[in-house]
Amino acid sequence: MSEIFKGSFTQQEPIPEEGIAAAVKVMCHGRLHRYNLAEGEIGEAALLEQEFAAFTGAKYALAVASGGYAMATGLRAVGVKPGDRVLTNAFTLAPVPGAIASLGAVPVFVGVTESLTIDLEDLRVKADQADVLMLSHMRGHLCDMDALMAICNAAGITVIEDCAHTLGAAWAGVASGRHGLMACYSTQTYKHMNSGEGGFLITDDDEVMARAVILSGSYMLYGRNGTVPPPDVFERVKYDTPNISGRMDNLRAAILRPQLRVLPGQCAAWNARYRVVEEGLRGTPGLGVVERPEQESYVGSSIQFLLLDWSDAAIAKVIERCLARGVELKWFGGAAPTGFTSRYDSWRYAPSEPMPKTDRILKGILDMRLPLTFSLEDCALIARIIRAETGAVFQGG
Ligand SMILES: *Cc1c(COP(=O)(O)O)cnc(C)c1O
Repeated sequence: MSEIFKGSFTQQEPIPEEGIAAAVKVMCHGRLHRYNLAEGEIGEAALLEQEFAAFTGAKYALAVASGGYAMATGLRAVGVKPGDRVLTNAFTLAPVPGAIASLGAVPVFVGVTESLTIDLEDLRVKADQADVLMLSHMRGHLCDMDALMAICNAAGITVIEDCAHTLGAAWAGVASGRHGLMACYSTQTYKHMNSGEGGFLITDDDEVMARAVILSGSYMLYGRNGTVPPPDVFERVKYDTPNISGRMDNLRAAILRPQLRVLPGQCAAWNARYRVVEEGLRGTPGLGVVERPEQESYVGSSIQFLLLDWSDAAIAKVIERCLARGVELKWFGGAAPTGFTSRYDSWRYAPSEPMPKTDRILKGILDMRLPLTFSLEDCALIARIIRAETGAVFQGG
C-alpha cells in the first residue's frame, strides 16, 4: 500500500490567543478605523507600525490594506507616471505586474535563473529601459543583492522590493527590504503573518514616506501614524499627493502585533520543515533541488524544485500522481494560469518579448507551500511521495 498524505496545503495556524483577545477588545470599543482614537490613545495600527519599523530596522513603516496596494503606493510615491516603464521579474505572481499596470505604467520583464532569482545579466541588458525596478523576491529566493544594487545604482534605477515572501529573511546579514529605497510586504493569509488581508511599506526616506502616508488615505490626520516624517516634509507634499484610500484598520493590526512578536520562532519552524523536504528530495533522479547561497538567510514557507527539460506530459503526470497521493504541486510552467500560478506571457495587458532561457526554467518549476500546520513527519512523508512518483515517471513508469 502506498502512503497517502492527508494534510491541507492551504491550512494556516489559528490566530494566537493574544491576537484574538486584542481583536475582541477593538471590537468591544468599536474604534476600528485607524484614526478613530480616544483621548491620548495610540491605536493598534500606529503601534504596529512602530513595531514593524523596529523589526525591519527601517525609519518608517506604513500599514496598508494589502501587499498589492503597498506596491502600487510605493510606485506612486517614487514618482512613477502613466506610460512609464518599470522593470520587474518574469517569475512572480500576478499582483506584481498588476500593481505596475494599476498606475498605467508598463512592466518590462526580466528573466529568471536556475536559482529562481532575477537574471542579473538580463537586468544589465535592460537597465536603460526604466528608472524603477520592482524587485520581487519570489518564493523567498534572494538574488545577490550586493550585485543587484551595484547594477541599479550605476544605472540610476530606484529599487522597490517586494518582500511578500521574505519577511524575516536576509542577504549577507542585511534584512530583506533594506537594500532598496522602499520595500513592500503582505499580511494576506498565505504569507508570514496572517490578517486575512493587509500589507506594509517601509523606507528611510522622509519624502517618499510622507507621500505614501497621504496616498494611503491619511487625510490630514497623518500625525496619528506610528512613524511620522517631520511636519515640513508633509507641508511640501500634502497638496500635490492624491488620497487613494488603502489604510489598514485597528482590527487587523491587533491580530498582527502578537504575530510579529513570535515571527522569528515561526521562521525557524518553517526552515525546519523546509530542510526535511529538501533533504528528502535531494538526489532524486531528474529532479533539481534549488541550492541556497551561503549569504542567504531564507524563510522556507514554501519549497520549489526543478524538473528541467522534462516534457509537459511527464510533468503533468508527476503532478497527477502526487495529487492522487495527497500532495498538491503547483506548476508555474503550465500553459494557462491556474490558482496562484501564471506565466509572464499570460498577462496579456503587458506585452512581452519571448524569453527562451526563462521559459525553459519556468516550465520546470514545481512549487509547494509548507504551512506550519504540517509536522516534520508530514514533511518527510511529502518528500517520500514526490521522490517515489517523480522517480517512477522519470524511469518511464
Ligand atoms: C501575495 C503577493 C503579493 C501581494 O500581496 P496581496 O496582499 O495578496 O496583495 C505580492 N507579491 C508576491 C510575490 C506575492 O506572493
